[in-house]
Amino acid sequence: MEAMAKQEFQTEVSQLLQLIIHSLYSHPEIFLRELISNSSDALDKLRHLTLTDETFKNLPFDPRIALGLDEEKSTLTIGDTGIGMNEEDLISHLGTIARSGTKNFLNQLSGDAKKDSNLIGQFGVGFYSAFMVADKIEVVSRKAGEELAWRWTSDGKSGFDIEPAERDVAGTTIILHLNDEGKQYANSWRLKEVVKKYSNHIAFPIFLTYEKSEWNAEEKKSDKVLTTEQVNAASALWRRSKSELTDEDYKELYKSISGDSNDPLFWFHTKAEGSLEYTTLFYIPSKAPLDLYQAEYKVGVKLYVKRVFILDDAKELLPQYLRFVRGIIDSEDLPLNVSREILQQNKVLTSIRTASVKKILTELKNISLNQPEKYLEFIQEYNRPLKEGLYGDYANREALLELIRFKSTAVEGLTSLADVKTRMQGEQKSIYYITGGSESLLRTSPLLEIYKKKGLEVLILDDEIDEIVFSGIEKYGEIDLKAVNKASTSEDLKDDSPEAKDEAEALKPLLEKLKATLGDRVKDVRASVRLADSPSCIVSDEEEPSLQMQQMLRAMGQ
Ligand code: ADP
Ligand code: MG
Repeated sequence: MEAMAKQEFQTEVSQLLQLIIHSLYSHPEIFLRELISNSSDALDKLRHLTLTDETFKNLPFDPRIALGLDEEKSTLTIGDTGIGMNEEDLISHLGTIARSGTKNFLNQLSGDAKKDSNLIGQFGVGFYSAFMVADKIEVVSRKAGEELAWRWTSDGKSGFDIEPAERDVAGTTIILHLNDEGKQYANSWRLKEVVKKYSNHIAFPIFLTYEKSEWNAEEKKSDKVLTTEQVNAASALWRRSKSELTDEDYKELYKSISGDSNDPLFWFHTKAEGSLEYTTLFYIPSKAPLDLYQAEYKVGVKLYVKRVFILDDAKELLPQYLRFVRGIIDSEDLPLNVSREILQQNKVLTSIRTASVKKILTELKNISLNQPEKYLEFIQEYNRPLKEGLYGDYANREALLELIRFKSTAVEGLTSLADVKTRMQGEQKSIYYITGGSESLLRTSPLLEIYKKKGLEVLILDDEIDEIVFSGIEKYGEIDLKAVNKASTSEDLKDDSPEAKDEAEALKPLLEKLKATLGDRVKDVRASVRLADSPSCIVSDEEEPSLQMQQMLRAMGQ
């Protein structure tokens, strides 16, 4: 046998290991969820190859995940018949961290074990979590289509060793030498409990082999009998009908696919039959995913074809503004060998996507009407991404305008445009809003004085993207949407009485004088109908970007 080659972990791996081991100690059971999901991923990958790649077509595929318990030796093994890893894979997958998302993970660790264990699932640093319960881990793996197997061994501190090994078929076996913390998992009852909790809906069967005590009536003593049992339900639950499923089923599936340990806020389960056949199950997380505002956000919707996992992390599945949605799209019509490149122009997927967006927006509308309090919980987390949709998704603009909520001068809390409409005054033609600063700044703006005086409602748009988004939205149904800081908006408020005309005449000489003094620094000086108490204010011309926009553009180097 070749001499063992000792290799060091990449610095980030060592850092990560330290953090995982020390900050997540009160929540170690998730290690099993992580290892089982890796096995499930490996099985998905091999299945996909056997279906799509000529060179793998004739390989045997007997998908299973096998847990083995040796209470005396205090070892737990997790084996699978998946894609496996060769020497190179072992070094790169289990010795370095390729994902840039991991840096974010490191930054976001809070020291709160519950929150941090959630992060582990979200950022996919799963394998290393096994060092919470093991002081030594061996990984024996053979890659599908290759003859050689390899053994990777590490204590999770200094680095790892790699040497040639034996394995009859392709796949991976992970042998955990349990530490004091991990000893509690050297117990079949406890293991079954954890598998059911996290991995019940993994699409492949999970078997547990252990020594069961059985009463021997003849010899009047209990015998240890080696037993193998399937411990998960292994069903693609989303393919069952709604009436067969309980809320608990839905919540469990959500937790297993999202890595979130909280219940989802709501879910929408749809089976489409007709020209296209597919099933979608979408979940809205109760808290916005932590990477919601990061460029490299992780997509939470997985694509299946006829129950076979095809891919995740595909940004084509839903528009970007719905990136907080988690769930599954399972199609009958897509080919199994659909690739990322094909996805972009695939007609079937485009139709599913269009229908899915409609479905999600319609369901949200229903919730806003039937469960307003629940809807408010949703809005607290997701008002902003919906506004992004207003900017990008032209086809669903009307629906999105109904879903978004606003601060306003007329009511406390948040309000919808539909409600604003019911509060409009007799001859009022437009709905007014103000942008360009913090809520308190906007609420005390002199621009609002005339609206206050006339009893007109003004929406307070204090989100930094509001300016850009709403400058492109001209109407809500038949009603104009107008920014109070645009010059033309004041036309609405014009007073045509003879007294007002006299007043305007009287002001002319003063305006001329001001214009001469200010020169090029302003475009125009006008008598304003906007103000009631303040002497003056600055507004933008209709065609020009507003002041705040100008500042933003300047900041971006425009
Ligand atoms: P993630 O699953 O998010 O990629 P992990 O730390 O859980 O992160 O796993 C790292 C990588 O190691 C996986 O992406 C995969 O390539 C490889 N790997 C882990 N477990 C297995 C396994 N049982 N079979 C094949 N490859 C595996
Ligand atoms: Mg993983």
